Amino acid sequence: MMGNVILVGAGPGDPGLLTEKGRQALEQAQVVVYDRLVSPEILALIPPPAERINVGKEAGHHPVPQERINEILLEKAREGKRVVRLKGGDPFLFGRGGEELELLCQNKIPFQVVPGVTSALAAPAYAGIPVTHRDFCSSVHIVTGHAKAGAPLRIDFEALCRTGGTLVFLMGLGTLPRICHGLLEAGMDPETPAAVVEQGTLPRQRKVISTLTELPSEATAARIQSPAVIVVGKVCSLSDKFDWFDALPLKGKDIIVTRPADRSGTLCQSLRALGASVTAYPCIRTVPREDCPQLEEAIAGLDRFRWLVFTSPAGPEIFFRRLRKSGRDARALAGLKLAAIGPKTAAQLERFGLQADLVPEVFDSAHLARAMDKVDGPVLLCRASRGSDALPEIFTKNGIPFQDIPCYDTVYEAPEDAPVGELLKRKVLVTFTSASTVRGFVESLPGADLSNVLGCCIGPQTAEEAKKFGIAVTVAREATMESLLECIKGA
Ligand code: SAH
Repeated sequence: MMGNVILVGAGPGDPGLLTEKGRQALEQAQVVVYDRLVSPEILALIPPPAERINVGKEAGHHPVPQERINEILLEKAREGKRVVRLKGGDPFLFGRGGEELELLCQNKIPFQVVPGVTSALAAPAYAGIPVTHRDFCSSVHIVTGHAKAGAPLRIDFEALCRTGGTLVFLMGLGTLPRICHGLLEAGMDPETPAAVVEQGTLPRQRKVISTLTELPSEATAARIQSPAVIVVGKVCSLSDKFDWFDALPLKGKDIIVTRPADRSGTLCQSLRALGASVTAYPCIRTVPREDCPQLEEAIAGLDRFRWLVFTSPAGPEIFFRRLRKSGRDARALAGLKLAAIGPKTAAQLERFGLQADLVPEVFDSAHLARAMDKVDGPVLLCRASRGSDALPEIFTKNGIPFQDIPCYDTVYEAPEDAPVGELLKRKVLVTFTSASTVRGFVESLPGADLSNVLGCCIGPQTAEEAKKFGIAVTVAREATMESLLECIKGA
C-alpha cells in the first residue's frame, strides 16, 4: 500500500495553538518527522508505537541536511507509512514546506498540508500587538531578516516604507541593527514604534517595546535571544494597553505537576491558561494487583460487610473489574453503604450507577476516618498498599471490625522526558495532590536539593508528608482542585 505525507504546522509554541486537524493527523501517524521548537506537549500526542525522527538542531549537533529530510519523507512513504512532517508555526511560511513537497510530487506520493498558526501573527498577538488596526495601517508584511553569513541583506527597504503597513521580520534577530538602519535610511520616522517578542506564546515570552532608533540597543540590553519576531509600526504602541498575556496571574511562574500521568491533564491545562510554565511530572502510577485472592474472597462474601470504602478514583475501577470477573454486577452491593474519599472517587462510583453515601467535608483520609468513627462494621477498605494509617487506627480504637485490602500498588518512577533538575535551581512550585505524590516526587529525585521547592498541597496530610522531607509548603483551604488553584495563585 502507498503511504502518504501530511505536512503539519505545529503552531508557534503554545500547545493549545495546534489545529484540530493537525492533532488528528498526529494521532494517526506511523512516522513523525519533527523539528526543534516543537513543544513536548504536542510531541506527547504521537502514539507510542509511531517512529519519531528528530531532524532539528540539538545543542552541539548539526541538523539533518534538507536533502536528507526530503529523502526520509520519501523513503517512509514508500514503506507504506502514514508520515507526518511536523514543523513550527505554519509549514509554508519560511518553513521550507514547498521544498519538501517537490520530491514527493516527483515520485507521485500523495500529500496534504495542514496550515499552522504562524509566529509572525501569534507572537505579536500574545504581546498585545494587533498587526493591523484601522487607525494606523492597512497592510501587514512578513519578511525574512535572514542573510547568508557575510552577504548583504536583500530587502527592498524603500518599497517596505512606501507601503505604510506593519512590518514583521522573522529570523531577524541577528540582523536587527541592519534592519532598523535600512528602514531609517529609506526614510522611516525614527520614532516609529517597534518591538521584539522573544519565545512568543510560550510562558517565558518576553517583549521589548521601543522605537525604530532604540530597538537594537534595547534588545541587546535585555539580552533578547532567538526565537524572536520583530514588529515595526504604529500598532506596537498598543502593546502595553492590550497586554493580556503578561498580565496573567501565573505568568513566568514555574510549576511542576506531580499527578499520575492519566490524571494530570486538566490541572496542567488550567495552570497553563493562567500563564504558568508547567512541567508535567507523572512520578507515580497505579498498578492494579493481578492476583488479589483477598479481594476475590471479600467479593465472594460481600454480604458480611456493611460499608465499602474507596480512597482514590482508581479503587472503584479495580473493584468492579474483579466483581465482573466473578460473574456479578452492581446488584451485589445492594446491602452495602458506600464511602468515597472525595468527589472524583464518588464520580467513579456514579459511572457504575452508584451514589456514595458518605463523602467527608474535607477530602482526605483523616477526615474520612473522623466521618466514619461511629459506623456499623464490618468495613471493607479497598485501597492502595502503603495507604494512610488514619482509617485502620480509628476503626481499631473504636472496635469497628474491618478488613483492609491492598488492591493496587502505587509505583514511584522518574519520568523519562521531564527533566526537572534545571527547574530545581530556581524557585519552583510543585503541586502535591496526595501523600503518595510527595513520596513519588522525592523518591524519583534521589539526593536532589529541594530547598527551592514550594510544595502546593491539596490538604494537611499531604503537607505533613512534604514537611517530613524538608519541603516548604502552602496548603489549599479545601481539598479541591479549585481551591488548590487559588492556593497556587496566592503562592
Ligand atoms: N514557519 C515558522 C517560521 C519559521 S522561521 C512560523 O510560521 O512561525 C523561524 C523564525 O520564526 C524564528 O527565527 C523566529 O523569528 C520565528 N519564531 C518561531 N517561533 C517563534 C516564537 N515562539 N516566538 C517568536 N518567534 C518565533
